[in-house]
This record gives sequence, C-alpha cells and structure tokens, in this order.
Amino acid sequence: MGSRILIIEDEPAIAASIAYNLRREGHAVATAADGLSGLDSARREPPDLIILDIMLPRMDGFEVCRSIRESSALELRQVPIIVVTARTAEGDRVVGLDLGADDYLVKPFSMRELTARTKALLRRSSPGARKSDAATPLAAGSILLDLDNRRVSRRGRAIPLKPREFDLLACLMQAPGRVFSREDLLDRAWGTDFVGDLRTVDVHVRWLREKLEDDPAKPSLIETVRGVGYRIRSER
Ligand code: CA
Repeated sequence: MGSRILIIEDEPAIAASIAYNLRREGHAVATAADGLSGLDSARREPPDLIILDIMLPRMDGFEVCRSIRESSALELRQVPIIVVTARTAEGDRVVGLDLGADDYLVKPFSMRELTARTKALLRRSSPGARKSDAATPLAAGSILLDLDNRRVSRRGRAIPLKPREFDLLACLMQAPGRVFSREDLLDRAWGTDFVGDLRTVDVHVRWLREKLEDDPAKPSLIETVRGVGYRIRSER
C-alpha cells in the first residue's frame, strides 16, 4: 500500500531522484522547493511522511521541523520526518534530533538507504503495525514503555525522551537481563550505517539514567556491565 510522502528539497535533481525512487515503491509523492511552501503543503494535507532538507530558501529545515512539531493539529504533529542535509557537523545531527525529526540522513546518501528508512518509519507509524506490534507495554521496575505510542512513564508519570533515548531504552527493555554491547546498541538504536563514537551510547545511557533513575549515580534500572556493555536489571 502506497503512502503520501512530501519531499521538501530545493535542489531539483535531488528532489526528482528521491521522488522517482519513492514513486517506484508505490507512494504518492508531492514536492516543495522551499521551506515555507513545504510547510503550507503539509498543513493543507498532512502527508504520511516528510523528507526534509535543512538548507532551504525562505524557511530552513530546522524551522519547518519545529513548526510541524509545534502544530496544533495532532495529525500534522505526528507525521514522521526524515531530515536530510549536506552538513555533516555532529551538532547539526543532534539539533535535528532535538527538534523531533525521526531519522536523519547526511548527503550523499544512497536511494536504497533512503527507501529502507522510509519503509521502516512508515511501518512504525502505520495504524495496523501499531496494533500488532505491542499491545502491552514493556515493564522494568517502575518504568513502563509503550512501543506502540513511543511513550515512557515512571510510576504513572510520563517521561519525555528523545527519539534515540527511546530507541535505546526500547532495545534494552525488550530483553531484560540480556547484556548488550555498545556496538550492538549503536547498531540497533542508531542503525548500522550510523558513523558514530561508542561514547554516543554512554552519553545516552547517562541521559536515560538522569531521567529514569532514583539515584542516577547508583543506577538500579540500567546496569553497566564492566568491559561489556549495558543491560536492564532483570526482575528475578
Ligand atoms: Ca538544500
């Protein structure tokens, strides 16, 4: 089943190539050549997914992403966004994620990579997948994780997590007690093509502990297994 995808990209050759590949996958594709008209188009008719360039005329991708995530229309606010950018600085990557983009690709990327990410995001957000994926939330100690709605709560209180924090925690919580190496976690939560430092994992574990542990210095939820990696403390 095809989805409706909006491409916001000012370089005609790149936009055309992405559109061609997604149409071949059976999707209905609309394009916008600047941020403002892209945002207008998304507001008029929220697509199932947005592919968003960062360096754009009239309104840049950061601003577009922020406007969508702050939109008063729930349907628009929840649209999955893949940010693509020519910039490679680590800071931009983080900013992109902070803004609520669901995924991130740095140019040049392969069309195969893009269609794979698109598929994964659409699968995750499709209503059918949500039902079969996870009817009951995962539990560890006082933490509940709802894969379905990508929500985490602690003693009944919602804890806002960034997308990668969520993916990392979800990965750990799906196999309580199992020790994951940092390489493994990086592959699972960031994707095998993510070129990053293993410390990225440590940093995100630290953030998770600050948000989820009673005493982040003496973690009782996410355990460090020295020289190996991390695991969720098993209830047994
Ligand atoms: Ca551009």
